[in-house]
Amino acid sequence: MRSPSARTAFILIAMNPAQLLLINGTLLDPARERPESVDLLIVDGLIAARGPGLRAQAPAATIIDAAGGYVAPGLIDMHVHFREPGQEQKETIASGSAAAAAGGFTSVCCMPNTTPAIDSEAQVEFVLTQAARADLCDVLPFGAITKAREGRELAELMLMSEAGAIGFSDDGAGVGSAAVMLKAFQYVKMFDGLLSQHCEEPALSGGVMNAGATALRLGLGGAAPVAEELMIARDLLLNRRINARYHVQHISAAGAVELIRQAKKSGHQVTCEVTPHHLLLTDESCGSYDSNFKVNPPLRGAADVQACLAGVVDGVIDCLATDHAPHTREEKELEFDKAPFGVVGLETALPLYAEALVHSGRLSWLELIRKMTANPARILRLSDRGSLSPGLRGDVVVFDSELRWRVDPQKFHSKGRNTPFAGRLVKGAVRYSIRAGRVVYQRPTGKEIAGIPAPPGRSSDKER
Ligand SMILES: [Zn+2]
Repeated sequence: MRSPSARTAFILIAMNPAQLLLINGTLLDPARERPESVDLLIVDGLIAARGPGLRAQAPAATIIDAAGGYVAPGLIDMHVHFREPGQEQKETIASGSAAAAAGGFTSVCCMPNTTPAIDSEAQVEFVLTQAARADLCDVLPFGAITKAREGRELAELMLMSEAGAIGFSDDGAGVGSAAVMLKAFQYVKMFDGLLSQHCEEPALSGGVMNAGATALRLGLGGAAPVAEELMIARDLLLNRRINARYHVQHISAAGAVELIRQAKKSGHQVTCEVTPHHLLLTDESCGSYDSNFKVNPPLRGAADVQACLAGVVDGVIDCLATDHAPHTREEKELEFDKAPFGVVGLETALPLYAEALVHSGRLSWLELIRKMTANPARILRLSDRGSLSPGLRGDVVVFDSELRWRVDPQKFHSKGRNTPFAGRLVKGAVRYSIRAGRVVYQRPTGKEIAGIPAPPGRSSDKER
């Protein structure tokens, strides 16, 4: 959509109270080649204009002074666990949405490994209703590929799609049966649905950390990268002639990155994501027996981390997710081999990805933002978001790239405190999250905006 002429724009805007004008910031727009220091105007929840000196066009707008900060599209996370229904003690859709807003995310995809699993229209509708009630973030439900995520019988994928499921996954486990997965590819192809896979061959699962020297030393059962590689290779073969939309979740192994690199070269329809912890930590971290380093897929060796970093840089890895997986303190205090897998990630993703990729000189801020906005929007077919072009939804994050703060899990909006990054000094902090033109998070120490209520959730780290 093109912006209207200056004169029409003025008349429209003068009559409309729902205007937000971001001034003095540097725009990181994936649709553009380079950052630009221009204003951004949001009207009625949509991006209305971008350019210098927009203040004259919108004298009645609420002003957000983004001086010294970056202005980017709201972040999109393809992989979170909000635990509702069934495990509300770990997270609810409301608490997860607040964590997302605090982390700069305006759209997240929640996985269906709830209790019961999200495997029907009614369950999809339940998530959407709870998300609308919380009203802080778009929570886009994934439906289960198989009924009850048992891997035996396909769930009603098309009905779930019609009810609003954005994709399908049995996340937490991979679909072990090649026959079932083949049917799933054929089925989603009929309505152009998206299949995401937690790639782990069940016959080779059961380890609690990466197989290797550290696992041997600690006396813990190891999970070898081949479990991940085998399922990716199988799925690529199953899908070769069908060519359905296929997405590999939380890639972690060098061999897996290489399989996807080759598949993309041969023209396969495949995309993949990574997590912050698989870019910043190795299996040696498990040496303390701290279950906050227990994730699935497990933290791998240094060569795997390097391969994942290289895959992000050369574009084999399309997007940057979190796999935000909250658990209670009691569960994570169990012994390493008994504690559940997973770490929280929404409130630390931006600075951690910046540490791995921007502050280390591998990517520019604009390239990083593209992998957290435009690329997931493309994979999810969300054509109304992922850039700052006029006409798109007014989903925006304003952040400070240089501000240092220390990760304190007690300050999280998420119910989950299980992060392997507690105490870490990170650089980069969200100042505002804006969803469809409405401020849904404001860093407490940021300049207050007149007329905008206090941010949701509890107040945040003063040091931020
Ligand atoms: Zn998974």
